[in-house]
Amino acid sequence: MASSCDVVVVGLGAMGSAATLHLARAGARVIGIDSSSPPNALGSSHGDTRITRLAVGEGPAYVPLVRRSHELWREYEEELSCELLVRCGGLILGGLTSSGQHGVGNFVAATIDIARSHSIDHEILSAGEMLDRFGVLDVTDEVGYFERSAGYLRAPACIRAQHELAVRAGATIRVNEPVLGWSATTTGVRVETKEEAVDASVLVLTAGPWLPSLEPGLEPLLSVQRQVQFWFEMERDADRFSELPVFIWMHGIEEGAYLYGFPAIDGPSGGVKVATEVFADATSPLDVERRVTDDEAERMHSTHVRGRIAGLSSRCVRSAVCLYTVTPDFGFIIDWLPEHRNVLVASPCSGHGFKHSAAVGECVAQVALTGSSSIDISAFRLDRFIS
Ligand SMILES: Cc1cc2nc3c(=O)[nH]c(=O)nc-3n(C[C@H](O)[C@H](O)[C@H](O)COP(=O)(O)OP(=O)(O)OC[C@H]3O[C@@H](n4cnc5c(N)ncnc54)[C@H](O)[C@@H]3O)c2cc1C
Repeated sequence: MASSCDVVVVGLGAMGSAATLHLARAGARVIGIDSSSPPNALGSSHGDTRITRLAVGEGPAYVPLVRRSHELWREYEEELSCELLVRCGGLILGGLTSSGQHGVGNFVAATIDIARSHSIDHEILSAGEMLDRFGVLDVTDEVGYFERSAGYLRAPACIRAQHELAVRAGATIRVNEPVLGWSATTTGVRVETKEEAVDASVLVLTAGPWLPSLEPGLEPLLSVQRQVQFWFEMERDADRFSELPVFIWMHGIEEGAYLYGFPAIDGPSGGVKVATEVFADATSPLDVERRVTDDEAERMHSTHVRGRIAGLSSRCVRSAVCLYTVTPDFGFIIDWLPEHRNVLVASPCSGHGFKHSAAVGECVAQVALTGSSSIDISAFRLDRFIS
């Protein structure tokens, strides 16, 4: 026995829940399947919060996606009476020769360029102005880009909201049902699970860091990377920490010399979430070390926090290991598989995908049903990796 539908979506985290919602809203018969019951704490979307900013220094192709995503998050908040997008402001700061991020040279300069070329409202702040406004950040000679409409997304709530709206729109959601594999059929695609196979005209693969196991052909392009989110204890000034903007601080010229952080959102004992990015040997969701050692927390604090964030102690009150799925140029992949023109991939987002996920889901639905999308996603094609 097999169910049948127009589109089957495999993986219902950030990208897949968004795609399922928009497919259902467009009137498609859609079945979404996930091996867990998302939001989960095993993939790429956990740890409470994700930064969002309109001036996306990673490149101009991302600006329409994040703008549309902000509109969509606001619509969902109204429909469900919940809070998803918190516009607490965003500060990106660094020296004039500071390090790059996500494959982009000087990230502060790149951000300012994008803001100017896309008329995104912002302020440029001197070190003195940043000290006045955000007292706990011990800046010295940095330049700051401040964007009022930046902030953070409540990531698990976003996923929950998209699931609920997808079901309301008529999607069938099947959770705790691992997909074992898929194959081409004469009429489309068959997806195998332990419970019941699904036949569909189109398959959307949005399995995040599990993608290489579901489509081994992509393995050479994808590197799954372990990242750690840390929450450090506030020694004082809990009010000031709760009023912080989100921040990305490029504090040196060497690779990885930066940290990012969030305001304190869980009260005086909840800690302040900060992280950096570390790129080492590739791993997988199955093999990754999910334990965070005291040494790792101490190293994070001494390398990035100490001397920069006043009043944030080295006591780590919480930590979470999370996974990036990184492409060779740190860009997204949203494209049909070359060998299977009815299998659409939309997941490897190289550690900066959440803010775009609502609009990525909308684009995926449009491409799956009509062949093209209202936002230009040609920058995310697979053929850019073929020389
Ligand atoms: C530490 C960290 C910090 C980040 N910070 C930011 C940030 O500040 N801003 C930002 O924009 N982005 C950020 N990102 C990136 C962003 O979170 C990711 O791009 C996004 O969450 C990826 O979503 P996804 O849907 O691809 O993966 P996931 O949300 O992990 O979803 C994949 C889903 O596939 C399911 N699945 C896997 N295998 C199977 C199977 N065989 N059968 C069925 N289902 C399956 C899983 O259960 C899971 O639910 C960060 C990522 C990390 C890890």
